[in-house]
Parts: sequence; C-alpha cells; structure tokens
Amino acid sequence: MKYFLLLCISYLYVSANAHVFVYHRFGDDRHQSTNTTLKELEKEFKYFKDKGYKVVPMSDIVEKVKNKEQVPDNWVAFNIDDSYKSFYKNGLPLFRKYNYPFTLFIYVEATEKKYSDFMTWEQIKDASKFGEISLHSYGHKHLTQLSNKSIYADTKKSYDIFVKKLGFKPKGYVYPYGEYDKRVKEVIKKFDFDYIANQNSGSVNHKSDVYDLNRVALVGKVNLKTKLKYKTLEATWIEPKVFPKDEILRRVKVKVNPKIKDIKLYISTYGWQNIKVKDGIIDVKLDKKLKLSRNRVAISPDYYTISSKLLIK
Ligand SMILES: [Zn+2]
Repeated sequence: MKYFLLLCISYLYVSANAHVFVYHRFGDDRHQSTNTTLKELEKEFKYFKDKGYKVVPMSDIVEKVKNKEQVPDNWVAFNIDDSYKSFYKNGLPLFRKYNYPFTLFIYVEATEKKYSDFMTWEQIKDASKFGEISLHSYGHKHLTQLSNKSIYADTKKSYDIFVKKLGFKPKGYVYPYGEYDKRVKEVIKKFDFDYIANQNSGSVNHKSDVYDLNRVALVGKVNLKTKLKYKTLEATWIEPKVFPKDEILRRVKVKVNPKIKDIKLYISTYGWQNIKVKDGIIDVKLDKKLKLSRNRVAISPDYYTISSKLLIK
C-alpha cells in the first residue's frame, strides 16, 4: 500500500518543472502591493544561490519547452513587468551583483510618453546589456474587454515602436494584469512571439503550452520554499471556459489523471472545498455567484500541484 501510494504521488510529480517569477517594483515603498524591498530581494537572491537554483534567461526555458525536453527542476527565471524606473535604479544593480539574467517586459506607452515612474528608452537600452527585453502591450489595457481589432492594434503599435526604438524584435509577450482568455490569446498569437506568459500559479515543464506559460508573482515578503512548491497539474478544462453571462458558476468539469481520487476545488471568495474524482473526471454542479471582476477557479490535490482557470467579467 505504501509503495502504491508512493507510485501515485511520484506520477503527479514525474516531470521536472522550472519556475518563472514576476517582480514589479523594487525599493519603492510608495506602492506596497507591487513592491519588493531591496533587503527582501537580496534575501531571495541569496536563497536561490544557496539552494542551488540556476537562474536562466526566459529564452532557455522557452527553448526546452519548444523542443519538448525536460526542463530542469532547479531552473528559475525572473520576469520584471511594467519597466518601472525603480527596477533600473534599485533592482538592476542587485541583478548585476548576482549576475542573474532577467526579462524586462515593456509597457510601451508609458516609456513613449515619458511617464515619470517608468524607464526611458535609453535606460531600457542600457538594461538590455544585462537581460532580455520583451513586450507588455502598448496601453496596458484590460484586453478581455477589447475587440479583436483593438487587441491587435494595441499589440501592433507596441511591437512596431519597440522594434524602431530598440532595433530588435520582442521574443515574448505578457498580458497586462495577467488578464486573458482564449480569444485574447488567439489574437496575440498572430504575432511572431516565441512565447506568451500569464500570471497563473504553477510551473513550466516540457508539456507546457509555450503560449500559456505560468508565472508566479513575488511581492512583499515571500516564503520562497512555498512558492517553489507550485507545480503544474495536467488537466483539461471542459467547463467553465469563459465568465458566465449571468455571473453564476454552475458547473466545473475537468479531466485529470484517473489516479487522482480526491481533489480540492478553489473558487475566488469561496476558498477551497474537497471534491471526489470519478474515473479521472471532476464534475461538480454549483450555484456560486462570481463576485469579482477577475475570478480564479483552480483544482489541486495538495494546494500546490495546480491547474487554474481565470474568469474575467
Ligand atoms: Zn503590468
């Protein structure tokens, strides 16, 4: 029995997983909800170093995924969203001290219109000597609320300005606010990005969709040991697919590994509940009003091996 249990558990964890972490602001205590203090950043960097994690460029992970090769378990990539000036002033020196690569995702309008809190093109060019630079839209809008035409136009505008100013193409794209659905994803995929990343808990392995890579945000004081426990649960979502028109979540139906007999279901504002899995099918009838503009539905056998669905009003 013990051996059987071990087999079941190891089956869930069979693929090696890399972790992609997202930062926003550095040493900027005016904005607690998106800030990482320099003391905390150094603590985190030291943790990765001491525990034998290898900090790699995002493109190394993407290449493994594209080739369907195992992504080493100790690989970690750092993303920095929005290109705030505090990265250039406060964060970058520490990345250089540790010689850690990074990918900086540019909110093009903010730089183009010289918003005071954001990096200039000169600073971005300088940062490009030490890390990769990619795209985070033109207008930083809620893309699920835009028409296909507007999503395309926003992306095209940002892409063209990016290439003109920096002289190279952006390899990756990350959604503003991490908000997307199938429709948004299909429009962004029309561009020649190597990858698109979301902001869903999980990890990246050889079975990941290169146009839907999971990233975990690091803000404030974090327990890295916990964050590093996140793994991607293999799952096929049948329902829900999109935010329900009447705002009521009535059914969750997901296909998972038949070896999983019990699972936990998470719904934003309702927390976790235990669910029985029958022959690899989770099928739950519900009557839950989705109260947020951005709702997360997730399944996990252990709170960490996770698959989630974002439902945006
Ligand atoms: Zn952003």
